[in-house]
Formats: sequence, C-alpha cells, structure tokens
Amino acid sequence: NLQSAEQIVLFGAAGDLSRRKLFAALYHLESEQLLHGDLKIIGVARNDYSDQEFQKFVADNLATFIGSEVTEDVVQRFTARFTYLKLDFSDQSGYTRLKAELKEEATTLYYLATPPAIYGMICEGLNAHQLANDYARVVMEKPIGHDLASSQVINDQVNRFFSESQIYRIDHYLGKETVLNLLSLRFANSLFSTNWDHNCIDHVQITVAESVGIEGRWGFYDETGQMRDMVQNHLLQILSLLAMEPPTDLSAESIRDEKLKVLKALRPINKTNIHEKAVRGQYAKGYLNGQEVPGYLEEEGANKESTTESFVAIKAEIDNWRWAGVPFYLRTGKRMPRKHSEVVIYFKHQPHNIFSHSYAQLPANKLTIRLQPDEGVELTVMNKIPGISNEIEVKETKLDLSFSQITENTRVIDAYERLLLTAIDGNQSLFIRRDEVEQAWNWVDGIMDAWNSTNELPKSYAAGSWGPVASIALIARDDRNWDE
Ligand code: NAP
Repeated sequence: NLQSAEQIVLFGAAGDLSRRKLFAALYHLESEQLLHGDLKIIGVARNDYSDQEFQKFVADNLATFIGSEVTEDVVQRFTARFTYLKLDFSDQSGYTRLKAELKEEATTLYYLATPPAIYGMICEGLNAHQLANDYARVVMEKPIGHDLASSQVINDQVNRFFSESQIYRIDHYLGKETVLNLLSLRFANSLFSTNWDHNCIDHVQITVAESVGIEGRWGFYDETGQMRDMVQNHLLQILSLLAMEPPTDLSAESIRDEKLKVLKALRPINKTNIHEKAVRGQYAKGYLNGQEVPGYLEEEGANKESTTESFVAIKAEIDNWRWAGVPFYLRTGKRMPRKHSEVVIYFKHQPHNIFSHSYAQLPANKLTIRLQPDEGVELTVMNKIPGISNEIEVKETKLDLSFSQITENTRVIDAYERLLLTAIDGNQSLFIRRDEVEQAWNWVDGIMDAWNSTNELPKSYAAGSWGPVASIALIARDDRNWDE
C-alpha cells in the first residue's frame, strides 16, 4: 500500500547505525517538516531505558553526530516522537508488548538495524503476533549474506512472512545525490543518451577509494573483505545504473527490471580467466599524509595469516548489444591516497587528427562524475587555444558542474534521509529487489571461488598507494590507464 507510514519501529535502536546515521537522518527530515505530524517512532533494543532516558540518548547522539547545527526546538519536537521498548529479539513472547505499543491498522515501518543473522528471528516474532500484516514494511540493512547461498537463507526467512512489495533492502549508494544524478545525466540529455553505447564509448572506470583502514573493526572486516563489502553492492549498483537500458518510467519495477538485465549480462569470471580479469590486494605498511600507518596484518587484533582482500580491481564485461567490447574497470580499496569516488566515461578517439602538430592522437572526450567528495560532473572537451596564430592549436578544457556551485551552499542531503523518506512514503525504487541481490552474489561468488581455487594470495600494496602493481597491469594490458 502507498500510505505514508504512521509509525516506525527501530530494531537495534541503541546500535552504531541508529546513533550515527538514522537519528540524524530522521532529525533532518523533521527539520525540513517532511515527517508526518503524527508519526511515532518506537526504539527497540535490550538496554534499560525509560522513554525519557531514550529521548535524551537520541538528543545526545544528535549533538555528537550533527553538532552545533541542531536547533533546540526541532530536537524537542523530534525526540517527543520517540518511545522505547526493551526487548530481546529472541524472546518471542516479548513481541506482545510491542504489539500493545502499536496503533492497529496503521502503516508501520519495521527498520531492522540489527545484524542480518537475526532478521529471521524478528520476522518470526512479528508474524507470531499478527504484525506481519498488510500494513507492514520491512527495511533491511546490508549485508544480505556473504554469498549467494547465505543471502538466499536470509531472504527466505524474511520472504516467508513478507511479500517482496513489503521489503526495502538498503544500498545507501542509491540514496546519494550524485548516484541518482546518473539517471538525469543519462536520460534527460540527448547529448549523452544518443552516445551511450559501444559506438561512442571506449571504456568506463568506476573507482571507490577510501583512505581509512580498518578503523578498529578488524574482526568484522576480515570476515567480509572489500569484494563483499563494496563490489557486490555499491559498485555493481553504480555499474547497473550506468549500463541499463532506459526504463519505461521511474517506477521501482521498471528501474529494477533494467538493472537486473545488466547484472545477468555480466560475463562470468572464473579460474580460467581470473588472472586477466581481477586483482585482489592487501595493504602493507606505508605512508598517508606523511604519517606512517600499519599494514593490514599489523592492525590491532589482526590474524597474521589472513588472506582477506582490502583492494579489488576488476575488468567487467557486459555481454549485450549496447556494451559489446566496452570494458567497465572497477577499482575499490582501503588505505588509498585519498577518499575519492568517481565514474569516468571515456569516449572514443577521433578517427583522424587534423591538428596533428598539437597531439599525435587527440585525447578522447571524458565525462567524469565525482561521487565524493566535491560532488559534481566534469566534461573534458578539446578547445582552441585563443590567440592569433597560423595554425589552430587545441587543448583539453574542462566544463565543470560542481554541485557546490550550482546548489549555492545548500546542504548535501545524506543518503539515509532520502532512503528513509522514500520508505516512509512506500516507494521502493531506491531499494534493491531480491533477484538483484542474488544475481550480484552469483557473479561475485564466481570471482571469489576462482581466487580460492587458484590459492592465489592477495597482492601487497603500500598503504597510501593506488593498489598493487597488478592492478595497473590489468588496465595497461588493454593499452589504457587508470584515471588520475
Ligand atoms: P550494532 O552497533 O551491533 O547494533 C545492533 C543493535 O541491535 C544494538 O542495539 C544491539 O543491542 C541490538 N541487538 C542485537 N541483537 C539483539 C537481540 N537479540 N535482542 C535485542 N537487541 C539486539 O550494529 P550496527 O553497526 O548498528 O549495524 C546494524 C545493521 O546495519 C547491520 O546489519 C549492519 O551490517 C548494518 N550497517 C551498519 C552500518 C554502520 O555504519 N554501522 C553501515 C551499513 C550497514 P546490544 O548493543 O545490546 O547488542
């Protein structure tokens, strides 16, 4: 149903995600007057809080994570929406108390900000107390499993009680302004939409680089690694939006159908081609901003034998009509020189250069979409160098559309604000459908299996560098370079 939610039940309300992201996102919606006047929020966790103590907990976290920008009257209005319920999610009888707190026949958003291993338990508790009804929506956080088989188990547990139209799987990249802007760039500009295929595009690069290391969560990260943490979800979602056919409209099913087709068309990578198609790396000791930083295996709590990757580079190929012969190079890692995420579309070279004195071969046009930081779009074109001369000399010029320039200091909206608002409104277009998650795992599993079966260890790279030498070779083999 498309009713706006009247109540939110936040499972895991004392956890890291709630404290750092969800309270702040909801607060900003409150401040923009985007929350329904009667919307109630029930925090559920196993700590001891009275309602007043929990409201103070929320206010304290807003002060910590938003800071001095918070406005006292908005905080008061916002925290007044909260009540708290102490519940151990494994205590099935405890859900009676939850039911008693809830308004009946009111659209309810159950946000599962808990480890995915207990999603099934919570859904069972809701179902046993007739709360898995037509009024319910369930928001699920990533990771949905660590491979195809485990994601199917989690999806089955939730799908047992909730239909797909009630489930909102989060990939917060889909809430980012710059990622959504891919849709407008592609489908609102004939300049790009008519040139968006193998006839005009040479190749595409997607980079999501982080300068941080493990941030004290070694054990958690080591079980996951960069492939599962970043490629299976965020990078493949960006790739799908870039490569999909035009959807008939912006409805959830139209967009998700088209993204799924791209994921299905990804050429499998297996042990016969893994050496040319994918590189995994692990950072060693190095320097960032002049400071020495430890290697992955020297971080606090590290198991010195770990072969978990902190870097991945992949040459992805999409076997369909539009993208035949156009590689999508993906690259993501920790302890890179700087936080830097971007998509670069390299157009084809001109067939012939009539300005031959300036360049042996004219540089290709390039569309750069900076996802973060300094969000914006940049188009590199060739331009005449002004001045009187017998010859026309050309040089690369950048048309810059930085978001900060066009939006004139308006606040960049956090992904969670948009995602929460659309989930409250019952719009699934920014959430991942089950078949997308599973198709993405299927492709990623092939690569992980190939690495495991060839017993190849991750290649070492110095912290503060752009990854192992093998990653440079991956793209150099095709006579191309990573964007600088
Ligand atoms: P977290 O800090 O461990 O918080 C989990 C919350 O669930 C805590 O309040 C915890 O209570 C509660 N909980 C766990 N088991 C429970 C049980 N049996 N009964 C009652 N309460 C229980 O985890 P998180 O970092 O917030 O992550 C939550 C979800 O978001 C995970 O799926 C994670 O993968 C995903 N996620 C998190 C982030 C992030 O930035 N943190 C980013 C992306 C995705 P206790 O404190 O009592 O254990």
